[in-house]
Amino acid sequence: MRILDGVVRPYAWGSRTAIASIQGRPVPSAHPEAELWFGSHPAGSARCVDPSGPEQDLVEVIDADPVATLGAASAAEFGNRLPFLLKILAAEEALSLQAHPSADQAREGFERENARGLALEARDRNYRDPWHKPELIVATTPFDALAGFRDPHKTVALLRELQVSELDHYLGMLAGQPDSEGLRAVFTTWLTLPEASIRQLVPAVLHGAIEVLSSGSTEFAAELRTVCELGEDYPNDPGVLASLLLNHVHLEPGEGLYLPAGNLHAYLRGTGVEIMANSDNVLRGGLTPKHIDVPELLRVLDFTPVDAAQMAPPVRMIGAERVYLTPAPEFRLSRIELDGTGLHHSSSICFDMPGPQILAVLSGAIEVRPAGGAPLTVKSGQALWITDDDPDVIVRAASARAVFYRALVPVAVSAAEEVSASAPAAVTATE
Ligand SMILES: [Zn+2]
Repeated sequence: MRILDGVVRPYAWGSRTAIASIQGRPVPSAHPEAELWFGSHPAGSARCVDPSGPEQDLVEVIDADPVATLGAASAAEFGNRLPFLLKILAAEEALSLQAHPSADQAREGFERENARGLALEARDRNYRDPWHKPELIVATTPFDALAGFRDPHKTVALLRELQVSELDHYLGMLAGQPDSEGLRAVFTTWLTLPEASIRQLVPAVLHGAIEVLSSGSTEFAAELRTVCELGEDYPNDPGVLASLLLNHVHLEPGEGLYLPAGNLHAYLRGTGVEIMANSDNVLRGGLTPKHIDVPELLRVLDFTPVDAAQMAPPVRMIGAERVYLTPAPEFRLSRIELDGTGLHHSSSICFDMPGPQILAVLSGAIEVRPAGGAPLTVKSGQALWITDDDPDVIVRAASARAVFYRALVPVAVSAAEEVSASAPAAVTATE
């Protein structure tokens, strides 16, 4: 069990207040701070900082004894690496329009780019590893995103409301085939238009959006405001057009959004806790100066219309733990709020699950006591690394209120459940 300091990623779209506030540092920070990584990714490994052992990178701790730290079940399934990456993400501006490959697509794409002789760090490399990258974000502030293709009938209504004659052709395409194939046709056409056409079409759409917004009554106000913001930041980018086809998803704190393979998405603004399979495979379609590969994006995209409710992971309360259920085998994320005043029910929680775990504190502080050992106090903006061979722990609030997120590997837990014939590994809230 070690206390982790995360690694700040200073991407330009990041917030100057969110991560610094969580960590209790002065705001605004000197540079944008987009993400705080708690994981063992070689590009940014968290650091073990408590005095119980040498100060070192988490990746070194795992490499020194993968089976003892990760457990046999996780190591057998995912190899000698932590299968997930846990982050705090704080977006002040939109991130790129992107999608991630399925496990099969990632394996095939990685081998194909290796066969072409592309260096792993080449700028035009799409597949930097052979793994898929399902993602789950849970909002800790109001959070906005574009995600998944909207029901085309609704998009036809939106395009009709815009009354932009330059869009008539595409409106006709979608109205004539209001399904995934119609979406594929319009999206593919927009992303492959010559730049001269984009330079005409995007301003026309922005003009139309402003007209509708200033007229006052529209059910698509949030969608059109997003189009205007993206158009201001990326005036000649087909991603602005693509945003017309996507759901505008708004999350309140505690609500989640799960992005499976092939889901086209772009986070717009807000802070959240994000967990993903430990991979770098991103296919971008716009709203970024980074490498864009439209044909490859088209290969992996899922054009099946979805709505926000379908992308919200089911939530199950297990004692004081709010668990976000997803099909991703690499991770399970949950949120726990503990009360340190002694006035309410959930003041502590016992974890006895096997496999690697990371607890990230978002608010207040927690005291974690291993069975038969000395406790560690983990402050807001820090995390705790718990290994497979650590004993059971009891977590208490070390402040009036403490909020933390817990990441674990489901396969490690289910393997242990199979071995033990008794009750499933229990998580209990205690007085
Ligand atoms: Zn993504």
